[in-house]
Amino acid sequence: MGKSSKDKRDIYYRLAKEQGWRARSAFKLMQIDEQFNIFDGVTRVVDLCAAPGSWSQVLSKTLYSNKSESEKKDVKIVAVDLQSMAPLPGVIQLKGDITKESTASEILSQFGDELVELVVFDGAPDVTGLHDLDEYIQAQLLLAALNITTYLLKPQGTFVGKIFRGKDVSILIAQLEIFFEDVTIAKPCSSRNSSIESFVVCSKFQLPEGYKPTMANPLMTNDSRTWSEMDVHPVITPFIACGSLSGFDADKTYDLELDGLEYIQRDPVQGPISPPYEKSKPLITTKGKSILQSEETETANSMEQLNLN
Ligand code: SAM
Repeated sequence: MGKSSKDKRDIYYRLAKEQGWRARSAFKLMQIDEQFNIFDGVTRVVDLCAAPGSWSQVLSKTLYSNKSESEKKDVKIVAVDLQSMAPLPGVIQLKGDITKESTASEILSQFGDELVELVVFDGAPDVTGLHDLDEYIQAQLLLAALNITTYLLKPQGTFVGKIFRGKDVSILIAQLEIFFEDVTIAKPCSSRNSSIESFVVCSKFQLPEGYKPTMANPLMTNDSRTWSEMDVHPVITPFIACGSLSGFDADKTYDLELDGLEYIQRDPVQGPISPPYEKSKPLITTKGKSILQSEETETANSMEQLNLN
């Protein structure tokens, strides 16, 4: 399949390259902000599972680069991932696992132990292709993100996180509603309709009385009380599509000559830094040219994985 084929099939992948975003996910965060104004009044923010960094790019541009020199002094953006990522203006990077208490402490120390106003999370485990398993692991990662957020977020703060709308979504929403007064599910138009991916936009954070953040017994999951005893009742969660309805449709194939303009094939803005497959390179036994071809194929596959939805 030619390189331009993906540009035809995935308009947001193409636009991301044209506009300098590291991944198409940048549009999802911008469309969520258009609808919910999540950046209003925010100076301290954490980007969980940030690599290769398109959400951090949006944060850097909106909260740091577009500000005056005196405003910049108050802004702190911390990006965390298991993987390294290329630097960005105004963004402090931490290599860490969001399921670890040590990562929570490291993040907090970057803020001088001050709590933050916004936590965003666009994490994804390696996809297995087994839908039930992928859904389960994604749910566990969202819970890990919520758990670390209980250490970091100030009262009334906001959390935005990726969620798969699978069969257990109402349990996840019920857990979020323990900590947030308002929970909405958002579907940005840059996220394919054919994908079960959505985002929870949770505002008005408050730790339940007596709750102490912990990684040992996270989110009261070892609490033997039933949901009704905990005063948690199922509610209908608002679902909002965001982004301009007259904008590009993520599920549609577009002509390469958009609006009659000449098409230029571009490479992704930022390749992965020391990706895991690099370790396996010496195992490739083919010679000379073939080795190079294998590397290119793997890079392309890896970039595709980063731009899944
Ligand atoms: N938001 C990113 C962007 O806009 O460029 C894309 C994130 S990518 C879809 C998912 C990321 O989750 C990967 O970089 C992966 O390393 C990270 N991740 C998965 N599990 C993690 C964990 N336990 N701790 C930290 N990062 C994790």
